[in-house]
Amino acid sequence: MNKLQQALYQNFGFHTFKKGQEKIIQSVLNGKDTIAMLPTGGGKSLCYQLPGYLLDGMVLIISPLLSLMEDQVQQLKALGEKRAAALNSMLSRNERNAILENIGRYKFLYLSPEALQSDYVLDRLKRVPISLFVIDEAHCISEWGHDFRPDYSKLGQLRKTLGHPPVLALTATATKNTLLDVMNLLDLQHADRHLYSVNRPNIALKVENAADTAEKIHRTVQLVEQLQGPGIVYCPTRKWAEELSAEIKAKTNSRSDFYHGGMESGDRILIQQQFINHQLDVICSTNAFGMGVDKADIRYVIHFHQPQTAEAFMQEIGRAGRDGKPSISILLRAPGDIELQQQIIQMEYLADHEISSILSILTATEERDEKKLRELLISHGVSETQARTIIHLFLSGKTSIELMTQELSHRMELKLDKMYHLSALLEQKSCLRESLLSYFSEAYKPDHTQNQCCSRCGIDLTAYEQKGEGNKMERFDNWRSELNRIFGLQSEGELC
Ligand code: ADP
Ligand code: MG
Repeated sequence: MNKLQQALYQNFGFHTFKKGQEKIIQSVLNGKDTIAMLPTGGGKSLCYQLPGYLLDGMVLIISPLLSLMEDQVQQLKALGEKRAAALNSMLSRNERNAILENIGRYKFLYLSPEALQSDYVLDRLKRVPISLFVIDEAHCISEWGHDFRPDYSKLGQLRKTLGHPPVLALTATATKNTLLDVMNLLDLQHADRHLYSVNRPNIALKVENAADTAEKIHRTVQLVEQLQGPGIVYCPTRKWAEELSAEIKAKTNSRSDFYHGGMESGDRILIQQQFINHQLDVICSTNAFGMGVDKADIRYVIHFHQPQTAEAFMQEIGRAGRDGKPSISILLRAPGDIELQQQIIQMEYLADHEISSILSILTATEERDEKKLRELLISHGVSETQARTIIHLFLSGKTSIELMTQELSHRMELKLDKMYHLSALLEQKSCLRESLLSYFSEAYKPDHTQNQCCSRCGIDLTAYEQKGEGNKMERFDNWRSELNRIFGLQSEGELC
């Protein structure tokens, strides 16, 4: 047993590293900036947690979602690590200050890119040695950094402010372009790159074509009834998540609930915890659920709708079977799906006259503080996401209607292109796994001797059906008291 393996066993109780972990950890321990791509469930957290124990100083982890941070902190605490915390809006002002005032006591601190913008937070962080600056789910930098979460694109600068600690950027779904973008935005041109296959061979990939939406609903209910759970049904909108969950509740014995970004964060975390603790069989959710959530035994994922991009599709698929056991992803398609996605993408963007009136609000004020401008636009009825995007563009010099419209329509075109790309990929007649992996520049040779690859190579669905009694779980009703039991707090606050 070498030293690293000893540390692995002592801190986590594991005897061997998962593929890629040791090399990534070695690179981090050598003080190199590191970009690592491992599949979902590949053990990326350990790549910074183990170095955290071996290096002096604090590990700072930039994480995109509140639920993800909470999940990671809970896991560290379950391992007996008391020096872990997440700085987010779930905390009261007092709790937040208590962490910041005792910052030196922490080993692992999770926070959102937005939280890192605060001068007070930065000032506190500057007082402690930071051994490693981790960006989890680093593809978000490229996906959102140019758009509604511009703070992602400032991480490179903030890292310098914090004394230039080594960076570890982690992802499971990055194309070549995304990686280049991450490298540029974080100034990581000389980083060690450890890119491993993102294939998940234990997850069968099925695509089913339905005649219409009614048939998709019927099929979803049928699949939830038949398949061995737990499972996730990914839905295109919040409304769909609620409606499908109600349908499943009404028509099956499965314990179902919904999850989306429109819910209070406390409720979201509670649903996530219930699901993790086997108190729910199925969750109907928008893509707000699941990133980085370490639930190992999800047996199926139903994509009620084609996701917007191949990256999003891979992320959703990857929520299944983190324990390595056979699992299945089923994508339901119907005519009209593409048009709906088109509408969803187009609705995220503003019409010319809306851009024009927002610009007149922005030019009429002397205010240049991002947060204050955001509040101003929100008070005029602009959505938070749109306000973030527009202000980001405005402050970076796109101050005329022409420049703003040009930039926004360019982004919309990029999104639509990605959506059409996935659609075309799904239309292909060859192995679906091969097509998907090729999108991530990975060469994959379909192994026709292997069963359960994809619907093109052949899948026996009965292998994923419930055996005997199924997996229904104990009833569990009182949300509020459970929330208080788990977190000892009331539900309030926002994403991150
Ligand atoms: P990722 O972030 O890559 O999706 P996680 O870091 O959440 O994956 O890890 C997935 C699971 O694998 C976790 O339950 C974790 O405890 C487990 N794991 C990580 N490293 C090892 C290892 N070396 N041996 C066994 N299990 C591991
Ligand atoms: Mg993770």
